[in-house]
Amino acid sequence: PLPVLAVVGRPNVGKSTLVNRILGRREAVVEDKPGVTRDRVSYPGEWSGREFTLVDTGGWEVDVAGIESKVAEQAEVAVALADAVLFVVDATVGATSTDERVVELLRRSGKPVVLCANKVDGPSGEADAAYLWALGLGQPHPISALHGRGTGDLLDAAMKAL
Ligand code: GDP
Ligand code: MG
Repeated sequence: PLPVLAVVGRPNVGKSTLVNRILGRREAVVEDKPGVTRDRVSYPGEWSGREFTLVDTGGWEVDVAGIESKVAEQAEVAVALADAVLFVVDATVGATSTDERVVELLRRSGKPVVLCANKVDGPSGEADAAYLWALGLGQPHPISALHGRGTGDLLDAAMKAL
């Protein structure tokens, strides 16, 4: 079986956009409204000649009642099944209390985590990404899932974690 790379994070941080970027096609559903990808969706991925299964998730909304528990359940299952996790944070927002709770869940999972500081669309956003060192997950990888900035380096790091 192929190694599994799961993409997790709060709604609206750009997980599905990143999945499409990695796949090189628009297959995952991207929405302006949070919480659209409710379920886990798997895609065949490839980078540097390595094949893997890429899993998009609905995100963890651990603070909000309602869809929260279903989404959290999905993401937790995804992490449990994953060999490595791409944890996506919106660098323009910074780490929220929800992100910090997700970090706790990730830490408990014991899985290798690659930290993606998304929405760094230009060099001026690099400073926002640097704040994410404080999450204690190692180096934040500044990327723009939308424009493709930094995603090659991110995938190189992900392949080392897989
Ligand atoms: P998800 O809920 O985490 O899957 O987030 P989506 O991929 O659906 O994206 C949510 C919104 O963020 C959409 O409007 C995307 O176009 C936008 N977005 C995603 N990545 C980027 C990025 O790198 N830069 C900017 N500026 N917007 C982004
Ligand atoms: Mg999504």
